[in-house]
Amino acid sequence: MKVLVLNCGSSSAKFQLIETSLEAIKDGSERRLAKGVIEKIGEETSIQRMQCEGKEPVKKVGPIPNHSQAIQTILEMLADSEHGIIEDKSEIAAVGHRVVHGGENFTHSCLITEDVLAKMKECIPLAPLHNPHNIKGYEIARELLGKTPHVAVFDTAFHQTMPPSSYIYALPYEYYTEKGIRRYGFHGTSHRYVARRVARIYNIPKDKFNIITVHIGNGASIAAVKKGNVIDTSMGFTPLEGLVMGTRCGDIDPAILMFLLSNDNMDANSLNKILNKKSGLLGISGISNDMRSLEKAADEGNERARLAIDIFCYRIRKYIGSYAVAMGGVHYIAFTAGIGENSIIVREKSCDGLEAIGAIIDHDKNEETSGKEGIFSTEDSKVKLCVIPTNEEMVIAHDTVESVEGLLRCK
Ligand code: ADP
Repeated sequence: MKVLVLNCGSSSAKFQLIETSLEAIKDGSERRLAKGVIEKIGEETSIQRMQCEGKEPVKKVGPIPNHSQAIQTILEMLADSEHGIIEDKSEIAAVGHRVVHGGENFTHSCLITEDVLAKMKECIPLAPLHNPHNIKGYEIARELLGKTPHVAVFDTAFHQTMPPSSYIYALPYEYYTEKGIRRYGFHGTSHRYVARRVARIYNIPKDKFNIITVHIGNGASIAAVKKGNVIDTSMGFTPLEGLVMGTRCGDIDPAILMFLLSNDNMDANSLNKILNKKSGLLGISGISNDMRSLEKAADEGNERARLAIDIFCYRIRKYIGSYAVAMGGVHYIAFTAGIGENSIIVREKSCDGLEAIGAIIDHDKNEETSGKEGIFSTEDSKVKLCVIPTNEEMVIAHDTVESVEGLLRCK
């Protein structure tokens, strides 16, 4: 069946069309038929891009006033006689929606019913910048696609197996029970893909090994997956906690916030902007949030770029060490996303010193595996280091098929 995967943000809508089925999931024969994005929704110069299997890529610029028009345009692009890949939107058998926050309501993906939609809306206060757009995407697609089933796939769901000792903050307990303040974790679809992919390609039952999955792109998070279940992850109540990110600070002493609020007369909004948009790699280096630019600058002798990379990698190493102990041992450490898949230097620096937990990097293999699936530890390394390019859209398509076929049911 053809599954449309939709990821609606505040000003963009990313999409993929994937040909898949229960059999294709088993034998790995799914195919991506199309991939595209509509950017700058609401502007006169909205950019529309798409590439379909075996076709030339297309790019158009023009007004897309709202999300409704954006999704309508996606359906028209897919059915375009020259650049598209379907004859009619009725060929779309199901739609999988990426939804950022499922709170404690969702432990896995769900076929969207009125009841599920109401529970998705309950999660809006937890992700006010993301969930409303994800939900809007669903409501528009439902209107445009008639009776086609829709499935919600939550970024938080995979982390719902964490025990309270990992997800409860040391705040007054009522903040959890009354306000829902706890660790939720994000990037769950990616962490799940990577953990399952390792099980599949190295032929190990998923409940027979422990893995640390290191998702490092612009956003970055790390998860400890013990025998198939997440027991801890670095992002918390929001995606701000944990690792150093492109523009986000990750872990800091919370008293710094009070210091800035009182001593610098900052208000909550400007503080929020600094922690989310002006910190991380960008804040430390003062140059860029982009790892490629920082690697180049460091190579040319820029000390703050070098420091930013060092801090970024040190934080990763520190988390790996603590998660290895938290799980009582680790068998695989897998790197994914833009930096994890492609940066030889970041993998090298993050793994430097991991001999202490039995992970020994092979520097030649580290160079060879860049950008592709493979192991980059030495033959005799007890813990295997590997690169697993992530594929969140494929997970969304899988869950959509399984939900539609009744294999995944909401509780
Ligand atoms: P997002 O979280 O936006 O999806 P990505 O997963 O695309 O982010 O990762 C973007 C990051 O990956 C950027 O910092 C970029 O510099 C980095 N990156 C991509 N390719 C390379 C490369 N070859 N070497 C180092 N860093 C890279």
